[in-house]
Amino acid sequence: MKLLLFDIDGTLLRTHGAGVRAMLRAAETTLGERCKGAEINFGGSLDPWIFRQIAAHGGYDASEALHQQFRRLYASLIEEEIERGEKRPEATPGVLTLLARLRVEQVAQVGMLTGNYAETGVIKLRRVGIDPDWFSPTIWGDAAPDRPGLVRAALSQVGALAHDTIVIGDTPRDVHCAHENGARCLAVATGGHSVAELRAAGADRVVEDLVDPSPLYEML
Ligand SMILES: [Mg+2]
Repeated sequence: MKLLLFDIDGTLLRTHGAGVRAMLRAAETTLGERCKGAEINFGGSLDPWIFRQIAAHGGYDASEALHQQFRRLYASLIEEEIERGEKRPEATPGVLTLLARLRVEQVAQVGMLTGNYAETGVIKLRRVGIDPDWFSPTIWGDAAPDRPGLVRAALSQVGALAHDTIVIGDTPRDVHCAHENGARCLAVATGGHSVAELRAAGADRVVEDLVDPSPLYEML
């Protein structure tokens, strides 16, 4: 059985900045105002890593106790930031149809691999009508210290082989985490990266969005 590993942000959905705003607010409250202006490359990053980067920007000591405090506050602020945003979170084009089709056809095991903390990833998914229970395995951002480690966690959890696995993601980091493990990557340009950038990163296939599922089916 093939294994699909869908990324969340920029791939399944877009929060239009609500997640980033909530994170920065949580960091400023937990650590201090020197977190302001932290320019973190959020795309494809793991949430615990982002916290450490914001802390480093402010010159703060990122203890595990503070990390847990930040994580709790972030989860409580994200709903608020979603509500106050000009645009509501939305599933990316074609995603809801594709997920429905994959669930019916069962041509592959449909899993998730994301840098999100579980509790905030679930909030984002539910907001756009995606049920987290549709995915197995679900690999969250604290399952390993880096993204390639998340892929290894997914493979070992279901006993899948790397060459049967396709990571579906929107950043060069998604491409690299797949390739570092011998898996393939279908890259989608619905996040912050263009088709050209994702091609340059070496993605096996690159699509504008998931409206036309045939490139994915060809890879299967
Ligand atoms: Mg992403």
